[in-house]
Amino acid sequence: MKLDVNVLRYLSKEDFRVLTAVEMGMRNHQIVPAELIDRIAGLKHGGTYKVLKNLLKHKLVHHDSSKYDGFRLTYLGYDFLAIKALVNRGVFVSVGRQIGVGKESDIFEVATEDGTVLAMKLHRLGRVSFRAVKSKRDYLLHRSSYNWLYLSRLAALKEFAFMEALKAHGFPVPAAVDCNRHCVIMSLVQGYPLVQVKQLQNPETVFETIIGLVVRLAEKGLIHCDFNEFNIMIEDDEKVTLIDFPQMVSVSHRNAQMYFDRDVECIFKFFRKRFNLSFHVDQDESGESEFDESGRPRFFAIVKSIDSLDKELAASGFTTKDQDVIEKFIEGGIEQDSENSGDEEIVDEGCLPTDIDDTVVYNLNSLHLHGCAVRHDVNDEMQEKQYSNEVSHSN
Ligand code: ADP
Ligand code: MG
Repeated sequence: MKLDVNVLRYLSKEDFRVLTAVEMGMRNHQIVPAELIDRIAGLKHGGTYKVLKNLLKHKLVHHDSSKYDGFRLTYLGYDFLAIKALVNRGVFVSVGRQIGVGKESDIFEVATEDGTVLAMKLHRLGRVSFRAVKSKRDYLLHRSSYNWLYLSRLAALKEFAFMEALKAHGFPVPAAVDCNRHCVIMSLVQGYPLVQVKQLQNPETVFETIIGLVVRLAEKGLIHCDFNEFNIMIEDDEKVTLIDFPQMVSVSHRNAQMYFDRDVECIFKFFRKRFNLSFHVDQDESGESEFDESGRPRFFAIVKSIDSLDKELAASGFTTKDQDVIEKFIEGGIEQDSENSGDEEIVDEGCLPTDIDDTVVYNLNSLHLHGCAVRHDVNDEMQEKQYSNEVSHSN
């Protein structure tokens, strides 16, 4: 799929009204009946069907008439809703080139009114080979109709909350700017992922900085869980920035030590292979050092006295239930990564769950998150109004 933002220019107010109506309808319909879309959109002079045809042409919605005449949002449609909301509130004015394709995200440059370039991450959970994961992730789908749009939104929310908290605690992470739906806006790192860096002036220093980060995170009660050469950015002066946070877990997670050791191992392996570094640390007599003789940090020695950021994050409205949902999804993903053939496919089936937990969104507003998480904008207001109309009609 290509994100052709030029299309945005040609979309009218009516187009967005109908697109928003489809999104709203997805709260309780996998495929939203065309007549419901028409009712929610409430266009003054009718014409919803014509608008839907236009949205279909631009691949913003998908048409399904297998059971009844209905539509659902595509990821592109969801992208446009998020982008429009962020543009409306002045976060950026234009979208530039794509700078990254992650496993489950697309990253673009965006520019603010004063020309500052920021990074926009569009989460796409479930993009990688949905079919291969389906059996393993079925429990999620069956349990309470979680779906990819919802999970992507949750991932964005989590990433935003973690980025802010980590920044506030002095970690070298991008500055979190704003968040809407499955989209996170953050400062642009002027560097390259470590995997692309062939030479370093001071590989030992960079290595120590990176291992120091894993340790400091654990001291704050957190494990990155995807700590590798793809998620560490290096600038020209060899400054290190850590990115990509949706999979982070607490050190109290039942598999914490395994995740921690795996993160450490990734870095050791990479520096050994690429920069030919060898490691050895002299042990003190007590044998209680935070590092073993190979230089690897010891999980239990580190988390003995943690100063947990974990609690602070729990207070951010990102509930334990949400954490649980996203962890289960991500663990499913980790299990299947090795067997995944990588046949990329965009699958955005499913409706927004009826039990969608908006408290997450609103709680975030009241916090130290500066109300950025999901501010009400025109679309949201329209949704609230229309949604309550719809509910009162059906009662
Ligand atoms: P995923 O979760 O899909 O792995 P990442 O957050 O790791 O996504 O981003 C994918 C790639 O996009 C990164 O490897 C990096 O090259 C680029 N990228 C992500 N965030 C930024 C940023 N803030 N500044 C510059 N490049 C970024
Ligand atoms: Mg990544």
